[in-house]
Amino acid sequence: MLGVLPVLPRLLYACNRNHPGDGQTSVHFRLAFGDVLRQGLAMPADVISLLQHLVRIPSVNPDNAPGTALSGEEEIAGFLGGWLEALGAEVVLEAVQVGRPNVIGRFAPLDGRPRILLGPHLDTVGVGGMTIAPFGGELRDGRVWGRGASDTKGPMAAMLWALRETRASLAKLPVAVDFVAFMGEESGQWGSKDFVRRHGADYMFAVVGEPTSMQVVRVTKGSLWATLLATGKAAHSAQPERGENAILKLTRALDTLDYHLGHALAGYTHPVLGRSTLNVGVIRGGSRPNIVPDLAEAELDIRITPDLAASGGALRLLREMLADHALPLEIVAAHENPPMETAATHPMVQALLAVDPATQLAGAPWFSDATHLSNGGVPSICLGPGSINQAHTVDEFIDIAALQHGAAFLEEFIRRLELRAPAAVPMARE
Ligand SMILES: [Zn+2]
Repeated sequence: MLGVLPVLPRLLYACNRNHPGDGQTSVHFRLAFGDVLRQGLAMPADVISLLQHLVRIPSVNPDNAPGTALSGEEEIAGFLGGWLEALGAEVVLEAVQVGRPNVIGRFAPLDGRPRILLGPHLDTVGVGGMTIAPFGGELRDGRVWGRGASDTKGPMAAMLWALRETRASLAKLPVAVDFVAFMGEESGQWGSKDFVRRHGADYMFAVVGEPTSMQVVRVTKGSLWATLLATGKAAHSAQPERGENAILKLTRALDTLDYHLGHALAGYTHPVLGRSTLNVGVIRGGSRPNIVPDLAEAELDIRITPDLAASGGALRLLREMLADHALPLEIVAAHENPPMETAATHPMVQALLAVDPATQLAGAPWFSDATHLSNGGVPSICLGPGSINQAHTVDEFIDIAALQHGAAFLEEFIRRLELRAPAAVPMARE
């Protein structure tokens, strides 16, 4: 039944044109997929075969050791574009990097009504070391197997299937529901950052597709990755007093830092996430035993609770600690991602919880596109079938029962939006 689909990307990319406004390349879909849809050719029979098809389109993130030549989001974006168009969506592929687009599917015009998005990511982690066929999409033992089955093509398939089942009513809903798939989540999350900058003002809420076992993850920690450098003076090891040992400088300073910064971080806590933490994960320095080392460096990972972010963030705290204790270390690289906390009282969070009593509020130590959407002004949560325990594993799978439950849950969530009076839905993002 999917026989026609392999030709779709070629058709779609025939429409490539330059976006006049911003110099970015976009692809606009104005293609006659109605015929394909009427013939039933573009539609898998169920959410399981849809997921199998998604797994069989490799979309490995090319940035970090993909372990295959089949990397990049372009092919799956083309498939999704065709699929969404066949459901009746207006589709735009918005290039964030060359050949690496976000996919935006709108089922209702931008006419000012409240608007939410269902947003999985397009990419997967690498496939090196996997013990199953990464792109096999095999159906066995009540599971679909392959890279992305849980993270996050399972949640993506559940979202797509829910939209398919509700497609007749989507244009008329008092709350518009868009499908947006982001590139690059498994590396720098440029897709969600770019999207929220361009389109954040249009949305009052986002359901980000991640394998949360259908829990509503509304709070996640942020992180600071920083490299600390100690410099010394090289000398022959037979006369170490003529040099200055950068390794000893670094390790002594790290000891002090671990004590004082660790103590300070423990003061920043959250009822769900616990405390802010510090890990010294990498250390490098020196070249030979008979040379006094003149360079040494360490890489830190600080996990950030919302109250630490609110008080100025981890990088500021790290700088203060280095200064207060006169530690001879220089911060040479630092990248801070904020935490996320979406109000449990948000009407869309409450609407999700109302669908199924088994779905509860949760927090998580990892982070995702939801953080960037939230910090860009779109309150967001993560939700989807599949388990984080299966994400990034050598034998990734998703249970079919979980997948089907996820699709039914999201379908019910969308159907209940129909009952919402527009006035009951706050339009404004604070
Ligand atoms: Zn993911």
